[in-house]
Amino acid sequence: MTYLAVPIAAADLEQAKTQIKAALQKGAEMLELRSDYLENLSPSLVEELIAETKRATRSLPVIVTCRDHRQGGAKQYQCLLRVDVLAAALKAGAEFIDFEYENFLDAQSQEKIRRALAESTKGRLILSAHNFESRFDDIRKLYQHIMTLHPAAIPKLVYKANHINDCFDAFDLLRRTGGDRIVFCMGEAGIISRIIAKKLGSLVTFASVDDKSATAEGQLTIEQFKKLYRYDAMNADTKLYGTIGSPVAHSLSPAIHNACFAKAKLNKLYLPLHVEGGKAEFEQFMNHVLGRSWLNFRGVSVTIPHKQNALEFVKAKGGFIEPLAERIGAVNTLLADENGALSAYNTDYIGAMEAIESKLPIAELKDLPVAIVGAGGAARAIVAGLCDAGAKITIYNRTIEKGQELAWQFGCDFAPLTALQNTNARLLVNCTSLGTYPDTNVTPVPKKCLKKGMVVFDVVYNPRETLLLKHAREKRLKRIDGLSMFINQAAAQFKLFTGKSADTKLMRRTVCRKA
Ligand code: NAP
Repeated sequence: MTYLAVPIAAADLEQAKTQIKAALQKGAEMLELRSDYLENLSPSLVEELIAETKRATRSLPVIVTCRDHRQGGAKQYQCLLRVDVLAAALKAGAEFIDFEYENFLDAQSQEKIRRALAESTKGRLILSAHNFESRFDDIRKLYQHIMTLHPAAIPKLVYKANHINDCFDAFDLLRRTGGDRIVFCMGEAGIISRIIAKKLGSLVTFASVDDKSATAEGQLTIEQFKKLYRYDAMNADTKLYGTIGSPVAHSLSPAIHNACFAKAKLNKLYLPLHVEGGKAEFEQFMNHVLGRSWLNFRGVSVTIPHKQNALEFVKAKGGFIEPLAERIGAVNTLLADENGALSAYNTDYIGAMEAIESKLPIAELKDLPVAIVGAGGAARAIVAGLCDAGAKITIYNRTIEKGQELAWQFGCDFAPLTALQNTNARLLVNCTSLGTYPDTNVTPVPKKCLKKGMVVFDVVYNPRETLLLKHAREKRLKRIDGLSMFINQAAAQFKLFTGKSADTKLMRRTVCRKA
């Protein structure tokens, strides 16, 4: 059993009552009473707080924590007062108390807590250790020390992940140990460890009621756990998927894939996988995942800046590369089977071509003059698609050599960005990232380049109407937004992930709600 616990960090009883009510309404499964946030802390105040909590929650288990200021506590209360508070909490019926492992080494504190535990019928001790800077030097040793010191304790080991690759120490510890333990990582890079804590059997994972009330960096809201990350459906057998990129915090992919997994009643979960850095970090992440078959990672979407890295990684591993992806020279989807064998695909091609065909029948693409602005991964897929349809393509790119190379590879023309004003294209496609949130007030195509009869397609989907598409609307031109391509390519990925057709209407509704 994993509890979704909400910290109650109130200065007084009135505030606590409000927070408890909100936590219950949102679906908290456990409450952590952070008594170190209370003003005028005393054992009797905590007894009152527990009585109030029990009145409000009836059967919900409660952890009482009175955190040491040096380990993240809100106020500088003396150690002996904090110990008295925890002893009182046990007497008042708290199911769990949380005390720092380091302070438990102090004989006087230890003796008092052991006595209080012996007198309690159901109370249990969580012995916690935090590292707010980085990974523990040796998390297994630390775990063993705690278990040796007090075998009945629930070890809680929490550390800051500075990179997603730091999370694997936590996963390994959960995998190698049994019984009740609480293990996860703090920080934005540690978010996935909070999400899959339930899959890996941590006794608790913590959530806040809303964005403002988080008590630790990287803490998600209950709503994010339950609605976005399928918390209620998750179990040890859940298969994992995700989007690898940097940044990924604003990616819409987790929302649309998880909505479709839920609709199709599949035991699958899609995660944001923020892999900072370049090829080395990407390879490290993939090797971590593939070396741990028990994590059940079965597929990933790959986005900026790792599309090329993904292709090279699969090649080096001797995996299967779909011929289309090989020709495009970039992949955006990887699958791993239960033995870790990899295959790589590109769904941007189909996603873009379906979006274009919704406004321009395929037959009209033959010999159609097309301007492609950009020469990165998205451009490569779209150039391949439009070449197959027989279009006459000119590539415009900021970096001349890159544009020329792409043009040469697909037998197209090349011109510098400044030549766009002379274009006679009937279809113009922006394949650069210009115009994406938060720099929405830019476009790679001056308004005067948009000419009568032109169809304008912008692959940027955040915002849905980019400055380029706004200019095209003002000139009454036909427009294709990046969202159509995004949904089409995601639907093709869903088919690869599941073998089933995606509910594209649900994908679109989900994206529109989020946008
Ligand atoms: P990429 O491989 O990094 O390529 C980026 C392209 O943008 C390059 O051609 C680059 O030119 C150009 N560029 C970047 N900043 C520029 C600037 N300030 N001025 C002029 N040109 C600039 O990225 P990608 O994978 O192709 O993705 C490009 C965009 O497409 C991203 O916004 C991505 O989110 C979007 N996308 C959308 C979908 C969808 O489904 N709608 C799918 C894939 C990608 P240089 O060669 O000179 O660097």
